[in-house]
Amino acid sequence: MEERITYPEINSFLRSTIKREDGFLRDLEKYAEDNHIPIIQPETAALLKVLIGIHKPERVLEAGTAIGYSAVIIARAMGTSGTVDTIEIDEDMAEAARKNIEIMDLSKRIRVLQGDALEVMECLDTAYDFIFLDAAKGRYIEYFDHAIRLLRPGGLLVSDNVLYKGLVAQNQKVVHKHRTIAVKLKEYLQLLCHDERLKTSIIPIGDGLAVSLKRS
Ligand code: SAH
Ligand code: MG
Repeated sequence: MEERITYPEINSFLRSTIKREDGFLRDLEKYAEDNHIPIIQPETAALLKVLIGIHKPERVLEAGTAIGYSAVIIARAMGTSGTVDTIEIDEDMAEAARKNIEIMDLSKRIRVLQGDALEVMECLDTAYDFIFLDAAKGRYIEYFDHAIRLLRPGGLLVSDNVLYKGLVAQNQKVVHKHRTIAVKLKEYLQLLCHDERLKTSIIPIGDGLAVSLKRS
């Protein structure tokens, strides 16, 4: 049973309302489940699709590609134009993502940048309309300055896993293995919620999503 950030009955109800992916995306979900790859949950995907529909980004940056599942969801939600640059540290994972993106016929719109998210972000200097952080959870604070720098005024920063299995909200009881990440995520949320340049809302779906709008 996966760990949850809200009441199980609310979660299963929300899950039951969602129209699930089919075809190759469904295959990717199955592959991710079998191989313990933490792709975005259906509720998170549904919210991303709505945010992208409202915000209409032309250029998206993602940190944490894994097998390319969320990059494909995002690119499709953008319609038939617009690009996604997505960063993945693991070479095999990046290669698998490129193959999956090719199969989805999105190679022209999704660019997989293999490397450490911080190092790659340091090298980027063109503005993005939308940034999705979904890489090393303990390192979001390090990504933050570059994410703000790379985000255009009025851009959206969406950070995944910010409630981390619910552990961020219950620091006392957290076992050592997860404590550092929980503490760091809490600090990250403080940063997001108190930064003058942003308006942030934390949404308890999936593994917790922070949505931050950069002042225009
Ligand atoms: N966004 C994906 C899931 C990403 S899982 C989806 O929803 O489909 C997190 C990924 O981040 C893993 O593949 C992991 O290898 C990668 N990662 C971890 N640390 C990283 C880092 N420092 N830089 C870039 N990628 C990193
Ligand atoms: Mg995630």
